[in-house]
Amino acid sequence: MEMSMIKIEYLRKEYPNVTPLKDVSVEINKGDVISIIGPSGTGKSTLLRCLNQLEEPTSGTVTVDGDVITDPKCDISLVRRKMGMVFQSFNLFANLNIIENVMSAPVNLLKIPKDQARKEGMDLLKRVGLAEKAENYPDELSGGQKQRVAIARAIAMKPEIILFDEPTSALDPTMVGEVLSVIRSLAKDGMTMMIVTHEMKFARDVSNRVFYMDEGGIYEDGTPQQIFENPTKEKTRIFIKRLKQLSLKISSPDFDFIGFISQIEQFGRDNIIDARIVRNMQLAFEELVIQNIVGKLDYVGKGFPIVVETEYSETDSAAEMTILYGGEKYDPFTDGDELSVMIVKKLAANVDYDYDGTNRIIVTFKGA
Ligand code: ADP
Repeated sequence: MEMSMIKIEYLRKEYPNVTPLKDVSVEINKGDVISIIGPSGTGKSTLLRCLNQLEEPTSGTVTVDGDVITDPKCDISLVRRKMGMVFQSFNLFANLNIIENVMSAPVNLLKIPKDQARKEGMDLLKRVGLAEKAENYPDELSGGQKQRVAIARAIAMKPEIILFDEPTSALDPTMVGEVLSVIRSLAKDGMTMMIVTHEMKFARDVSNRVFYMDEGGIYEDGTPQQIFENPTKEKTRIFIKRLKQLSLKISSPDFDFIGFISQIEQFGRDNIIDARIVRNMQLAFEELVIQNIVGKLDYVGKGFPIVVETEYSETDSAAEMTILYGGEKYDPFTDGDELSVMIVKKLAANVDYDYDGTNRIIVTFKGA
C-alpha cells in the first residue's frame, strides 16, 4: 500500500503583486521522486518554500505524517528536521569546515554526541565523494563540491524528504553531472525528493512523477513518459514542444559562439539526443555558420541577423537545422570553403540550399 506522506490541501500563496499558487492540492507518497518543471515564475520555488515553511502560505494546509505543519502551533524545528532543503546557492557556513558544516545541525538540533555526529558525517562525505575534503573550508571547494556537501548536510538530519530548489543552476556546466549523480544515487536508495530543475533528461530518468507547473498550480501531474512524450494538456504540450526546438540568433560577427555551441549541447541533453548527432550539429554549426557565413556577411556588410533554428523529432530520431540569413545570394555549398562544405556533407544525412530573397540552408542529421 502506498503511504501518503505529505498532503497538500488548497494551498494558496499571495504576494502583493502576484499569486503564484492559487489552489494546490496534491499528495506525495513515500519514495516519490518528483521533478517540478515549467516556465519561470510559475511558483515552483514558492511551492517548495511553502512546504518547508520558509514562506507562510496565505491559506491551505500541509500535513506531514499526520502533523499539520501549517498550524501556527506546530513546532517549526520539527518541520525543518523532517524536510531537508538544498538551495541553488549552497548556503554553507563559510566559517566552518566541511565536516563541521555536515555535523552542525545533528549536534545542535538533534543533540547527537559530537563523536557520533562526526563519524556519521564522514560516512556521508564518503557517500558524496568528499571525505578527503573534510577539513577544508567551503571557499576551497568548487561549486559542484559545495553542492555535494550541502546534500550531505541535508541527509545528515535523516529527513523524510529532501527539497531541491534548482540545485544545479548556479553551477558551471562541467559540474552539473557530479551533483546530479549524487541525487540519482539518493533516488536509488529510496529517498523521497522533490526537485525543481531545468535538467530535462535528468528529470525524465530520475523521477517517478513530474509536476508541470503553470497557471497558479500543478497544471499537469504525470509519469515522466506521459509528461515528456504524451502530455494531455495544452500548455504542457506547448512547453514540451518548445523544448524540442532551439532558436539561435546571431546579430554580429562578435557573437558568443562558445555560448551557442554549449546551448546546442544543452539542447541535446534536454532531448536525450544521440551524442553523435549533437556533435555533428555542433560541427555543422561551426563549419557553416562560423567558418563560412559569418565571415562572408561581415565582408558584404549586411545580412545579419543569422537565425539558426534546430528541431528534434523523437519519432525518427532526426534533427533538422535551418539557417536563415539576408544579404546577397550566397550558397556555401557552391561558393564557400571547400573543406568546410565537405565536412558538413559528410556528417549530415542531407543538405539543401535555396534563395528567395533570403538565404536558406537546411541540414538534416540522423542517428546511426
Ligand atoms: P519559479 O520558481 O517557478 O521560477 P517563483 O516561485 O520563484 O517561480 O516565483 C513565482 C512568482 O512569485 C514570481 O512572479 C515571483 O516574482 C514572485 N515572488 C517570489 N518570491 C517573492 C517574494 N518574496 N515577494 C514577492 N514576489 C515574489
